[in-house]
Amino acid sequence: MSLRRDTDATEARVAGVAVDTRHWIGGERVASADTFTTTSPIDGGSLAEIARGGAAEAAQAVAAARSAFPAWAATSREERARILHAIADGIEKRIEELAVVETADNGALLRSHRRGVMPRVAHNFRFFADWLLTLDHEDFETRGHTNHVSWDPAGVCALITPWNAPLMLATWKVAPALAAGNTVVLKPAEWSPLTASLLADIAAEAGLPAGVLNVVQGYGEEVGAALVSDPGVARISFTGSVPTARHIAAAAAANLVPVSLELGGKSPLLVFADADLDLAVDLAIEQYDNAGQVCLAATRLLVEESIAEEFTARFLTRARKLKQGDPRDEATDIGPNIHRDHVERINGFVLNAIDDGATVLLGGSPNYHLGGLYYQPTLLTDVAPDAEIVTEEVFGPVLTLQTFATEDEAVELANGTRFGLAATLATGDTERATRVSERLVAGTVWVNCFFVRDLQAPFGGSRQSGIGREGGTWSFDFYCDVKNTVTAPKGWHTHG
Ligand code: NAD
Repeated sequence: MSLRRDTDATEARVAGVAVDTRHWIGGERVASADTFTTTSPIDGGSLAEIARGGAAEAAQAVAAARSAFPAWAATSREERARILHAIADGIEKRIEELAVVETADNGALLRSHRRGVMPRVAHNFRFFADWLLTLDHEDFETRGHTNHVSWDPAGVCALITPWNAPLMLATWKVAPALAAGNTVVLKPAEWSPLTASLLADIAAEAGLPAGVLNVVQGYGEEVGAALVSDPGVARISFTGSVPTARHIAAAAAANLVPVSLELGGKSPLLVFADADLDLAVDLAIEQYDNAGQVCLAATRLLVEESIAEEFTARFLTRARKLKQGDPRDEATDIGPNIHRDHVERINGFVLNAIDDGATVLLGGSPNYHLGGLYYQPTLLTDVAPDAEIVTEEVFGPVLTLQTFATEDEAVELANGTRFGLAATLATGDTERATRVSERLVAGTVWVNCFFVRDLQAPFGGSRQSGIGREGGTWSFDFYCDVKNTVTAPKGWHTHG
């Protein structure tokens, strides 16, 4: 299967799909004088030449979004919902194209893009379209006065997204921002820029007016930094790493703009001796999904001492059967990592851990001989609670194993990092599940399950895993200027 290859500065054919590689601003394709190359994790080869935006393109996109804002904000909720559903229809028609392009660009499994991710991308639009129509707060009275709460559109939203689930994470932001009546400038990650361009085509075909959704391409330090600093921006929503978040929060502070930050994690999986061990092993193996490039991944396995030996043996038996290879192959369990630099970074963490005294129970090195940017699924033990490998996000298929003797110790280890994105428990004791969940610092706790995400639930991180929550009403709270209108009853007159 060929990945691409005819590419010039304006269009590429990627896995047989034509992708315009220019920006999408004000309903038109806009080129930049310079380009950058996106590569495929499948073979490390170049995939497309992408317009490399900078301050000028960011300013142009914000200006286009600003001029489109009044008309879009004035559009009825029903009309906005209708267009969002039309976008979802367009996505559903192009699931195969989106799936093959996303897999070529970021290396995640094609089967999961086809059957899981892209249908959910469409659902993101449907969900927020429908939620918009139910977004009402019952009026309430204060000494005879009526309080009426409304969700007014905020303005131009700058949306900055990462590469590990490009279209999925972008549309978690684009859909509620548009539903709320805002206009948007989306800046996808430079390692996975392609599906955002296809989304622009789909949105235009669905009748979204020009300038309501704009896509700028380029490096974070260039077009991204210019975008978040633009005084014409009313909201900044960012998903990515902690170091970048510091820059973004500083830019938001300069203009006093509300900012939503969905950041990294170092989540634990707590396995108690009373757990169903098969389930616990399944949950642990799941943490290798997307080659470990999942913000929520429970990469720290915390296992009760009395079952640690048995758990480890069963885990290793399962993990050794995982098939690593081409993500387009239906039989593949673990695909490549995003970029050679990233594989080397993952390896650096593992080498440091070994230097610090860790024992390698599985994997422990790149798997370049498979032809792409692969890293072996890895399990390390004999790791100290304050070791780098235990406290820093690796963002690869690297798990650590620690043991605990008591519930208190389990909670202490679980809460022992600067992150607080998620936690997973495996236990057969429902009282323990409640007790432990209440003590965990995490935006999401899963009990005997993992990765179940309902869009109406709040999603986000505690501590350095983020600021704010996304999902359902929480998304609208962020993307709107929430207003309370207090009306006096007829004939009412007050003097202080
Ligand atoms: P990153 O921070 O390097 O980049 C994210 C985005 O920010 C990219 O589009 C990049 O171009 C842009 N960017 C970089 N510097 C910028 C700047 N100075 N100004 C404006 N934009 C800038 O993150 P990444 O490597 O793409 O993604 C991986 C990280 O994302 C991991 O830490 C992961 O945990 C996190 N993540 C979090 C969630 C969540 O929901 N909490 C989901 C997925 C990924």
